[in-house]
Amino acid sequence: MIKFVDLKRQYTSIREEIDDAISSVIAGTAFIGGKYVQSFAGEFAKYIGVKHCITCGNGTDAIEIALKSLGIGNGDEVIVPTHTWISTSEAVTLVGAKPVFSDTLSYYYTINPHEIEKHITPATRAIIPVHLFGLPADMDPITLLAKKHKLFVLEDCAQAHGAKIDGKLAGTFGDIATFSFYPSKNLGAFGDAGCIVTNNDELAEKATLIANHGQLIKHEHKIEGRNSRLDGIQGAILTAKLKHLNDWNERRIVNAKIYFEYLKDIQQVRTPASIDGFTHVYYVYCIKALERDKLRQYLNSKGIETAIHYPKMLPMLDAYKHIEQSPDEFKMSYEYQPFILSLPMYPELTEEEIKYICDSIKEFYSK
Ligand SMILES: *Cc1c(COP(=O)(O)O)cnc(C)c1O
Repeated sequence: MIKFVDLKRQYTSIREEIDDAISSVIAGTAFIGGKYVQSFAGEFAKYIGVKHCITCGNGTDAIEIALKSLGIGNGDEVIVPTHTWISTSEAVTLVGAKPVFSDTLSYYYTINPHEIEKHITPATRAIIPVHLFGLPADMDPITLLAKKHKLFVLEDCAQAHGAKIDGKLAGTFGDIATFSFYPSKNLGAFGDAGCIVTNNDELAEKATLIANHGQLIKHEHKIEGRNSRLDGIQGAILTAKLKHLNDWNERRIVNAKIYFEYLKDIQQVRTPASIDGFTHVYYVYCIKALERDKLRQYLNSKGIETAIHYPKMLPMLDAYKHIEQSPDEFKMSYEYQPFILSLPMYPELTEEEIKYICDSIKEFYSK
């Protein structure tokens, strides 16, 4: 049985570090905020290479808080990709603004920079590129376009901890960026967790206020905020795990290379795109496969778990049946959607397992 995600293997490999981290928090009763959270925020800001990291409850809150910090709300429009996890568009709606969907690219699965401009109206305030599956969106044309139209860029880095373009880390291209530390993410907590990063002092202060009841100093509420805080146990766990992130990402990249070698000659399968200068960190290893659903069933019968990220493009969901956009606007993502399939991918996956998965795929098509 090859699980789609196997978090137990990772825990087992660093059990002592994690158990020590948890015990320290309990012994120090630093349950919410406190020194373990502070210390993680500092370490993560250093890792990304930004001035500020504001921790919060989860990656969805992070996007919502970042949008509010940018002053986005009622009457505003924000451009988001058709192909992403719903948090990206949900957060836009949560602040009172309107998500406007823009098509994504086959093989890359990130927003198509050349499709964005046609969605810009006088109400557009921001673009949220998502570095989907661990591959950075093409940030050069996006930031140029944003500059031209005076729009903010908020990077959704929930799937891209450590991803880079020409050595520059995802999270450092826009005005503000958000991360999720959901357990299965490349850097994952043992529960919900998230953060906002930025080099802008003013945005950092606003985000800090919003995430913690509008107070920088206890009981000095400058505004009404909300409660979205990171707890000490997650902070300590994330600090321990951050030390391994580069190593884990390297192993994901090695695993992707092994997949590529075993899959490259199968006509019915296309491996994900790699781009010169872009460091893909493979949160998800997404292939395009003919007869996808039958293949998925076959792999399941061979003890191989797979997933689909995601079964429907966002504009096709009931949640968005009210949008006025035409399906013609999302041609490419709608076209590739029936073929995408995510194969098991984690640092601890062995070459033997990858070979077994690829052999099973070969077997399916040769029948
Ligand atoms: C996981 C994820 C989020 C949200 O993170 P949570 O911590 O689950 O709220 C946002 N955007 C994308 C693209 C994600 O994959």
